[in-house]
Amino acid sequence: MTTFGKIWFVGAGPGDPELITVKGQKLLSQAGAVLFAGSLVDRAVTLYAPADCAIRDSKDMTLEDMTAWLIDQASRHATVVRLQTGDPALYGALIELARPLSDAGIEWSVVPGVSSAMASMAAAGESMTLPEVTQTVILTRVEGRTPMPDGEDLASLAAHRTTICIFLSITLMHKVETALRAAGWAEDSPMLVVHKASWPGEQKIVRGTLADIKQKCREAGIASQAMIVASPTLGALHWETLARSKLYDPTFTHRFRKATA
Ligand code: SAH
Repeated sequence: MTTFGKIWFVGAGPGDPELITVKGQKLLSQAGAVLFAGSLVDRAVTLYAPADCAIRDSKDMTLEDMTAWLIDQASRHATVVRLQTGDPALYGALIELARPLSDAGIEWSVVPGVSSAMASMAAAGESMTLPEVTQTVILTRVEGRTPMPDGEDLASLAAHRTTICIFLSITLMHKVETALRAAGWAEDSPMLVVHKASWPGEQKIVRGTLADIKQKCREAGIASQAMIVASPTLGALHWETLARSKLYDPTFTHRFRKATA
């Protein structure tokens, strides 16, 4: 009887190899085989995987090819890593890949990663939430070849006026704009696009408004690997007034601190 190793779905983070978790890095250094997702995360593999590790890029593979490869490698090695960009639970085909493993009785686990949504806001020095501005974040995309489920079209989501991080949509900016306008966002609503967030030497940050962000992205030559953010929090660093966070407000008592004023 074949004994199988364990398959780990590891979030590689947004691109900077230092943004993988300690746990993810440790698993890579122990891996007998690594299947990595396209060109986005190969640096981490090169840096952390052992020299004799079997390494395969999944960009030209079907789901079936990937499953077969992972299962074959798990029959040879104790630790097999499927390395994905950002966090594996976001647009990562995680469940499709994991189901055949469960069916075959192969053990698997997920190690979370820093999503590109977080890395993009970090790059721009922006906050996803602000007191009395928005306390909610929506992670979404616009419809491309993958259809959007009912009730999730961007115009409906944008009606909530929250922070919206839009994945996989930089070539569909016209749809993003149409949806935000349909939801009543003003032409001067601030927008942010970050290309290759966290990639040393390659990151580009474009700030604009609903009226001009598409043109600015075109001028910056951004056509892929970009996060689009529409949020009422953008630019708050320079606002004249800002509501305070209760937690750090001197007049607010909580579990760890008594009010002083
Ligand atoms: N699981 C990934 C998302 C994969 S979908 C995550 O959590 O980030 C691929 C999309 O993610 C891209 O189209 C782009 O919108 C976004 N993306 C991935 N890496 C990025 C990066 N370094 N900078 C900006 N956007 C990125």
